[in-house]
Amino acid sequence: MSDKKNVLVLNCGSSSVKYKLYEMPGKTLLAQDYLQQIQRDEYEDTIRGVFETLKQYRIDIISHRVVHGGEAFKQSVVIDEQVKAEIRSLSRFAPLHNPINLTGIEIAQSIYPELKHVAVFDTAFHQTMPPSSYLYALPYEYYEHYGIRKYGFHGTSHRYVMSRAEEMLNRPKEQLRLISCHIGSGVSITAIRYGESFDTSMGMTPLAGLSMGTRSGNIDPGIIPYIEEIEKTDTAGAITILNNKSGLMGVSGVSNDLRDVMEKAAEGHYRSQLALELFTTILHKHIGLYLARLNGVDGIIFTAGVGENSATVREMVCTGLEFAGVNLDREANRASKGEAFISTEYSPVKVMVIPTNEELVMATDAYELSFQ
Ligand code: ADP
Repeated sequence: MSDKKNVLVLNCGSSSVKYKLYEMPGKTLLAQDYLQQIQRDEYEDTIRGVFETLKQYRIDIISHRVVHGGEAFKQSVVIDEQVKAEIRSLSRFAPLHNPINLTGIEIAQSIYPELKHVAVFDTAFHQTMPPSSYLYALPYEYYEHYGIRKYGFHGTSHRYVMSRAEEMLNRPKEQLRLISCHIGSGVSITAIRYGESFDTSMGMTPLAGLSMGTRSGNIDPGIIPYIEEIEKTDTAGAITILNNKSGLMGVSGVSNDLRDVMEKAAEGHYRSQLALELFTTILHKHIGLYLARLNGVDGIIFTAGVGENSATVREMVCTGLEFAGVNLDREANRASKGEAFISTEYSPVKVMVIPTNEELVMATDAYELSFQ
């Protein structure tokens, strides 16, 4: 596999388009951009604009991020009509994401019909979970007939940091139990057992699990009809509140950006202090859950915007895990930059900061599939 190929990694989100062009297998980044706050009616023009900008480059393969792959996709695939039909049908689980992902695929295919297009799914890595992890305690028919189960997300990120942890720890993944904490504007934790996702915090949709920038994470479902009554809204309206007005934003009343919340908290703003406390406590408790699920761990990984940059959050999350062999090196934690160990030398559990790189996984998958 020494042929050089230029792989365009395309991530069409609900209001943004992100791309990176890599020369593979050398992983050389040739071009990148991140276009944000795109309105629905200008979306298609924006994607076409990206291809216009990239005209000066040769593109050999296009790798598309697709949020929901359901049970149909356990790994990345070359896109054909059947794959597209499946992605479309999975829109029922990800109505804000899959249709947009598909729009990106269709525009790219219309401009580059001769190229191989690859889909990389956020859910694929989690397809190894056992039923005891992915089933909800609901009537079993809901799973059998309607696919109601936990799928999990951020899989590409969890997979990337796992492979980096394997290198850092210098032990094959088949021997490792890891807890991977992806803490960005979305938050998910995954229990990784012997190289595979064993349990994860997000659910059928990315609203579940931990509290996030604007998302509530798990709540008592009985709250939903009461919110509908209070707000004089319907179920969709209540879910919008859980998606967009909750989490750090909802509790602090200040911002969904942790930096703003921490700044206010330091000034003594009570609700910001509470928001930070709640956010980190929920993270801490979930680590406890997965310590049990894995019967102890070898490593804990912090990644994504908050995980990579906030020493305070990492310290708050790890404090009180000493009983399980997690001994944070507070100085190393404060000083860490890039990939780093932040546990003490003799800590039985290694704590690592690993900057995520989902795009590189997407480029690598597409490059490898292009030889098939
Ligand atoms: P996305 O899920 O949008 O890709 P990121 O992984 O980029 O999100 O994470 C974004 C979040 O990371 C921001 O909302 C911000 O709160 C947080 N963040 C970034 N840098 C820092 C920092 N230095 N300290 C604390 N939080 C940070």
